[in-house]
Amino acid sequence: MVQIDPVELTADLIRCASVTPDEGGALAVLERHLAAAGFACTRVDRGKVSNLFARWGAKAALRSFGFNGHTDVVPVGALDDWSVDPFGAEQKDGVLYGRGATDMKSGVAAFVAAAIDFINQTPPEEGAVILAITGDEEGPAIDGTVALLDWMQREGEQMSVCLVGEPTCPDHMGEMIKIGRRGSLNAHFTVTGVQGHAAYPHRAKNPLPAMVRLMDHLASHSLDTGSDHFDASTLAVVTVDTGNLATNVIPAACRSAVNIRFNDHHSGASLTAWLQTEADRASAAFGVEIALQVTVSGESFMTAPGLLSDLVAASVQAETGVSPTLSTSGGTSDARFVKAHCPVVEFGLVGKTMHKVDEQVPVADIVQLKAIYGRILSDYFA
Ligand SMILES: [Zn+2]
Repeated sequence: MVQIDPVELTADLIRCASVTPDEGGALAVLERHLAAAGFACTRVDRGKVSNLFARWGAKAALRSFGFNGHTDVVPVGALDDWSVDPFGAEQKDGVLYGRGATDMKSGVAAFVAAAIDFINQTPPEEGAVILAITGDEEGPAIDGTVALLDWMQREGEQMSVCLVGEPTCPDHMGEMIKIGRRGSLNAHFTVTGVQGHAAYPHRAKNPLPAMVRLMDHLASHSLDTGSDHFDASTLAVVTVDTGNLATNVIPAACRSAVNIRFNDHHSGASLTAWLQTEADRASAAFGVEIALQVTVSGESFMTAPGLLSDLVAASVQAETGVSPTLSTSGGTSDARFVKAHCPVVEFGLVGKTMHKVDEQVPVADIVQLKAIYGRILSDYFA
């Protein structure tokens, strides 16, 4: 019976320079191990992105436990600031270093090792274990998990529940499970007036007072005070820009952008309508044109606390002695796509060094994460 060392597998994955959208050999490493253990593997590549679908057990299994993760990593950034080779997988004093060490090659390796042990030791009779691993989570995420889910739908592949293995713990192993995420929306405003001499403002139409009023209005508005499982929604003005270097010129146009992180009191559509109303009001008050362009990166979502979060929390508690909190904090993740298919929660390592130089993970945490994932699998099918 083959056993996979999750630390060695993490190191093997780190050595694959899989900066989005390069596969870097990482999915090939996983495919080799999973196929040898009896998983049916399919590469679901789309556009420039490689993805891997692997299933152990029957397609029409009564219950299938899904795992979603990614092998792509963000660029190394300032190479000179690294004290190790970002793709060297160096190990010092019980710590493994490299790009992807926490986000999230270790999470993928821990689940692969746990899943292979599980099907070898206690194969579930009516069950299936599915891995949907993408090579594009850190990039545009258009041909990644979405492509996998599209393909699964076409092929009649189904996950009953799904665990996303992103780092979720702020400081200590076991602290936090994510049961949802806030939504995110970017709005771009362009206010257009008439350019002119600053000494003759009546011959120009300054776009700036309208922009300043509008931004003040948006920034000082309280969207809500939070909800049962979500923090209050936030709005940040991230740029106001004319590009005007002259002090004697009223500029013709001014651009701004705001980012809104929103809870379940709102939707992308309701916020867009509100932004449009505010833009129209400022436009009417100042007699300038205001164009609004909105991109919704993701709606807010949540898997209500229940069977799945209880199962994950109990396994975390049993292996770490820590009772995890259920949170919806942080940025977006691919769970926003999975939620349309099945209940989804996220649990993984401490995320302190993700996307940083000298990204690192204590080796003991990878071993512990494998034990937690293994316990989740056996308890789910018990
Ligand atoms: Zn990640």
